[in-house]
Amino acid sequence: MQSELSIRLNDGGYKNWIKAGFCLQKIRDCLIGFVISEMEKFHQFLLHNNSLLRREICKNSCRPQGTKFQGACPLCEVWKREILKHHTIQNNVIYWGNCSPPLWPKQAWEVAKVYMPHGQANTRGPGKCDVAALLNLIISCDRFDFVERQKVIEVASSDWQVQLMETDGVDALKFTDEIDTGEILNAELELLREWIQELCFTMEEQEALDVQHINSLNTFKEFLKQNKELENVLHKEVQQLYAVEKRWKHGVGTVKGQDGVEWNLEENEGLSTMDGKTGEVDSCKCTCASGLKHNNEEQE
Ligand SMILES: [Zn+2]
Repeated sequence: MQSELSIRLNDGGYKNWIKAGFCLQKIRDCLIGFVISEMEKFHQFLLHNNSLLRREICKNSCRPQGTKFQGACPLCEVWKREILKHHTIQNNVIYWGNCSPPLWPKQAWEVAKVYMPHGQANTRGPGKCDVAALLNLIISCDRFDFVERQKVIEVASSDWQVQLMETDGVDALKFTDEIDTGEILNAELELLREWIQELCFTMEEQEALDVQHINSLNTFKEFLKQNKELENVLHKEVQQLYAVEKRWKHGVGTVKGQDGVEWNLEENEGLSTMDGKTGEVDSCKCTCASGLKHNNEEQE
């Protein structure tokens, strides 16, 4: 496994992606304690200010979907109102599907997830969040009014590309000497899991996929073919991805080109034919996708 990691790290684009992801994970780890402590205080504040929230629990097992939370019980309606009162951006899109409202009275983290971008439904604590989710929470919840928000916005919108020295791309051993190999492997697996999660979310939530999402999916599948041992380690997640892809193909299966024209996947079997339609755009939010795309381009 380690020698295969060395081979992957000898590719400049891939190593760039791992380094950037590794740094982001470290920033996330530094923020966790602070964010948990503030959200616990915020939760206590909400409970203290409204006795209804302290006394009652949701008896309807309310379950929002995506950005919609319709048919909430009276108690969850009160929670919704209280949570939105503390959102710094009024009329912002809220990903209610991130959280489980019946847990709001007991778990500060379920409240925190209302202030985060999509894709947090399965994260049960900040340890599994990416740094972007934590930064968004700090920007969006007025509990963090004492933080200089503009600075956080600047950090959140920074270009996280890691610049490589020219010689850096061919010396994986140097990198693995500097940082424990096990630590790199863990960071790599976490990044790959995030990539799979993002692909699954996109196929489940979006009616028409952008070409770059299809390319991201293809790049990932090609990457797995070349790295069988990773496919074994990530077996459960990969199976989930394939199941979601199958459902997507049998369901909507529509792809949207950059020109805005949509076409059905089944009429365009052979997704590789879409490569020529990518142009210059690389707007997929998955950092790993662009990292590996770069990797593939170099090999061609
Ligand atoms: Zn409810």
